[in-house]
Amino acid sequence: MNGKYANIIVDISHEKLDKTFQYLIPDRLQGSLQPGALVFVPFGKGNRMIKGYILETTDCAEFPEERMKSIHSVITDDTLVESKLIRLAWWMKQNYGATMITALKTVLPIKKQMKPKEKKYLFLALEVQEANSQLAYYHAKHQTARERLLAELIKENVLMYDLVTTKLNISPATIRAFEEQGILKIGTEQIYRNPVAHTEQEHKGCVLNPMQQQVADAIRQDMRAQIHKTYLLYGVTGSGKTEVYMDLIEETVRSGRQAIVLIPEIALTYQTVMRFYKRFGDRVSTLHSKLSDGEKYDQFERAKKGMLDVMIGPRSALFTPFANIGLIVIDEEHEGAYKSDTMPKYHARETAIELAALHGASVILGSATPSVESYYKAQNGEYQLYELSKRAVNASLPQVYTVDLREELHRGNRSIFSERLQELIEDRLNKHEQTMLFLNRRGYAGFVSCRACGHVMKCPHCDVSLSAHENQKLVCHYCGYEQPQVKTCPKCGSKYIGGMKAGTQQVEQAIRKAFPQAGVLRMDLDTTRHKDGHERILSAFANQEADILVGTQMIVKGHDFPNVTLVGILAADLSLNVNDYRAAERTFQLLTQAAGRAGREQKPGEVVIQTYHPEHYSIITAANQDYKSFYQEEIGYRTLMNYPPAGHMLAVLTEGADEEQTEQYSERLAAALRDLTKKMNHSPEYAIINTAFSVIGPAEASIKKISDVYRRMIYVKSADYNTLTMCKDRLEQYIETDEIKEIRVQLDFDPMNSY
Ligand code: ADP
Ligand code: ZN
Ligand code: ZN
Repeated sequence: MNGKYANIIVDISHEKLDKTFQYLIPDRLQGSLQPGALVFVPFGKGNRMIKGYILETTDCAEFPEERMKSIHSVITDDTLVESKLIRLAWWMKQNYGATMITALKTVLPIKKQMKPKEKKYLFLALEVQEANSQLAYYHAKHQTARERLLAELIKENVLMYDLVTTKLNISPATIRAFEEQGILKIGTEQIYRNPVAHTEQEHKGCVLNPMQQQVADAIRQDMRAQIHKTYLLYGVTGSGKTEVYMDLIEETVRSGRQAIVLIPEIALTYQTVMRFYKRFGDRVSTLHSKLSDGEKYDQFERAKKGMLDVMIGPRSALFTPFANIGLIVIDEEHEGAYKSDTMPKYHARETAIELAALHGASVILGSATPSVESYYKAQNGEYQLYELSKRAVNASLPQVYTVDLREELHRGNRSIFSERLQELIEDRLNKHEQTMLFLNRRGYAGFVSCRACGHVMKCPHCDVSLSAHENQKLVCHYCGYEQPQVKTCPKCGSKYIGGMKAGTQQVEQAIRKAFPQAGVLRMDLDTTRHKDGHERILSAFANQEADILVGTQMIVKGHDFPNVTLVGILAADLSLNVNDYRAAERTFQLLTQAAGRAGREQKPGEVVIQTYHPEHYSIITAANQDYKSFYQEEIGYRTLMNYPPAGHMLAVLTEGADEEQTEQYSERLAAALRDLTKKMNHSPEYAIINTAFSVIGPAEASIKKISDVYRRMIYVKSADYNTLTMCKDRLEQYIETDEIKEIRVQLDFDPMNSY
């Protein structure tokens, strides 16, 4: 890193990370200082020597050089956790765009004054026989929460309090009631140091089947030979990927190193967490979004003090301050949730690979529907590909039927359920097996429009259509704006105004009408708004309190319901209508995952895909569970269009409350980029690299206004990622010289969502 001055942070445990000090770099250290390097600097009036970390170097002096102190010396200790995290923050800043401070705040947990919480455990206090008769009583009384808690206690003997209240969704009141009745005892860590290890012997993990063993052995061999790669483990749902991860985590831990496991929060169910606890005892910890900053900080402290070997959690678990990471696993690597939606808009996959390089660690990416990016890299040899092509426990893949909705209408069926789906639902109700109905809501606005003049009801603050709700209200899902449902068209006065397509509520109503005997649960944004709504609905369905679960995307992720033998996908293609180059990929992933929910155990499953586009390749290949054919079609299209992964894109979003000002500012940004093109064409220093890039826009974002803030987009496209980071540097430079407080600019490399 070049530059005459260094910005240094002297106290990273402090709440304010943005307190940096500038020092002169002495000649002998010029060019040798890396971000994250630990140095001694003279500090304060008495110039006492203190330690500080280099954040970055620069040629831009913050105050006159005469008054600047010099760095005294470098402490050569590159094993420091903080050094690595600062290095990583710097890399994120370079690759995704952000200030060093925002990048730093992303990777370093901020300390809040909090007294550490004592970890609590629940112990079964009854004899097994007594407990079982109590369990039968709760079952008969339909006291499902109590039944669930007691059943788990009988099974495990000891449970972690936090896990019970969050993942098992049991209220503190229920726990208290159990304590008062003498069913359980509450104890702390002091009383019982290692509760889960106690049950460990019984659950050593299963013996890997030959396919799993082969994959695990190959990776283990690399690890032992100090060869650290990124592996893509492509394995159908239920093929036993998690068992392979755990086997290799064990190897990692045995060699004295730590492992990080990323799992999308929505798939981080009680069962999954429990599997890891049983295998690794209390040296594993989990993160989730319900933890406060203080609690998260405590988990990170435990990691730093060497009290943990394994951290499981969503995206941010990547920044667990482990001293010596040996393995990073990213399960469901195709998930959009791995991309940050705030600056820096980093992707956990690439960031994990960078972090692994800093530690000399391996990375395993796992998925049943790998992202086109990852499979492309596996094809190019950048990642090493392994496959698990069969389910681990001899369950067959489901039988899939595709129904053409146009033909249904032709035959006079106006219901939202095709004949085949109706028959199969009826059949499941008779057999007391469960059904999941999935409504693909992406790209579907539930909008209300006039059949006479075509007028669409829109939010006055956002450029999106309003959604009709059961309570006779029209609601904006972006800003929360509400107004009463209209009876006549505000534009032409016609009475023929109404909802166009079925939302989850309408599906629920349609089921109640068609199958009055069926118990129905619904899961969507509205029913899960409440804090534990999500877990509550899932556990009720898992406990077979309902025959049918209706829901949006959120029902298809990671949950295992052994009694579900039918999955209906009501309108498979709505996600194809989104104007976004990932639309087909997302549709394929959603359909494949939804289909994977059917027939998980011994009972075979059936899937009905209802669609208006039965000929679309994403639907045909999903129905055939044929990832490779899907990939071939999709990569052809991406290559033709220069979309990622064949090319790269930088999205530049300019936002402001004043429409004209926002427009003009984004014009100036685009001009600065076009200027750069010219300069590059004429300057020999750029001639060595392939720097061709094109600037598209500015244009209105596809949602041109949210909460009265206007949005303009520029897209920069190039075959080369580094060219785009040069464009980013130019933009940041421009913004520095022409900053307008009211205008916000956001950068997003290879965006996952349309703007
Ligand atoms: P994935 O992560 O690929 O979805 P899992 O690891 O969750 O698959 O395995 C699916 C199911 O199969 C789990 O219930 C798991 O316990 C079981 N399983 C996996 N591997 C084996 C094995 N080798 N022997 C017995 N059961 C296994
Ligand atoms: Zn009208
Ligand atoms: Zn709105």
